[in-house]
Amino acid sequence: MTIRILPPQLANQIAAGEVVERPASVVKELVENSLDAGADQIDIDIDKGGSKLIRVRDNGSGIAEQELVLALSRHATSKITNLTDLEAITSLGFRGEALASISSVSRLTLTSRTAEQDAAWQANAEGRDMQVTVKPAAHPVGTSIEVLDLFFNTPARRKFLRTDKTEFGHIDELIKRLALSRYDVSWQLNHNGQTVRRLKAATTDEQRHKRVAALCGRAFAEQAAFIENQYGEVKIWGWLVHPAACSASLQCQYSYVNGRMMRDKLLNHAIRQAYGDSLTAEQQPAFVLYLELDPHQVDVNVHPAKHEVRFHQARLVHDFVVSALSDALRQLQSAAPPLPAA
Ligand code: ADP
Ligand code: MG
Repeated sequence: MTIRILPPQLANQIAAGEVVERPASVVKELVENSLDAGADQIDIDIDKGGSKLIRVRDNGSGIAEQELVLALSRHATSKITNLTDLEAITSLGFRGEALASISSVSRLTLTSRTAEQDAAWQANAEGRDMQVTVKPAAHPVGTSIEVLDLFFNTPARRKFLRTDKTEFGHIDELIKRLALSRYDVSWQLNHNGQTVRRLKAATTDEQRHKRVAALCGRAFAEQAAFIENQYGEVKIWGWLVHPAACSASLQCQYSYVNGRMMRDKLLNHAIRQAYGDSLTAEQQPAFVLYLELDPHQVDVNVHPAKHEVRFHQARLVHDFVVSALSDALRQLQSAAPPLPAA
């Protein structure tokens, strides 16, 4: 056996195996980059469930011409420079792998312009060595990334794509979750040329509540009570539904840690425990909850797709969430119980 260094494209394709599971994973990486770039307007165009086209356009900071090549290479990031940064991440990205991975399994074009530049530039990476070509283009300040023919060169992956409808369903669900994490951003999602979601930036409580109604359903928004609690530097806020009103029609279970969407075991366990036996076997808790704490207290570098976090003081966080939510539910209970959702 001879030991060889893998060619860049193959190395990137292997990395892509971990983060690019389906079109929705591409959308997640691209949108998170837009958010990290400070965008407050993000437009997403999808064709054929994302298997034909995924395009994310933002009005963020843009990427300078001389950095376009770097943006597409592996382990290249502007978000951290050392271990200290990694231990207190405030950006959504930090691995510097997404663009390299995605471009190794699709036909990717990156068009961008910074405020300092008077023109935009476009880059794409091709072939085995992922050579990047850069040429002038037209684009306002911000970035557009177009991903064509996802998995065209990895047939084994392409085979696992479901119907356009199913894949788009995953994308729509993802945008819902992301839009609930950033009320200050305007979102538009189009599928096959039709606008599926259009959400204006929400700045007042009323506008935020309206967004919750648009995304989680009117029934959820009517039943859910706003809650807020803090213990030291740990804070929880969001919307919670009284157990008597929790019905199968209120399918809404969204939680976030420092603005990052999560399906966190510890949080879910704490939420269940707070509801305790006030729910019947058929009932599910319904909530949109935001946990905020010092970034030093959370490790996000646990999983390549960043689905999980680790809390340094897991016990403390768990017990705080249980007690904050139990208190909130008790107060809801002592108020007149709301009518069950129709
Ligand atoms: P990461 O997000 O982990 O840094 P990515 O591969 O997703 O890695 O992106 C690489 C780099 O490209 C980012 O660090 C950022 O500097 C730049 N970048 C990517 N997308 C955008 C965007 N939409 N706007 C501005 N810069 C971007
Ligand atoms: Mg990224």
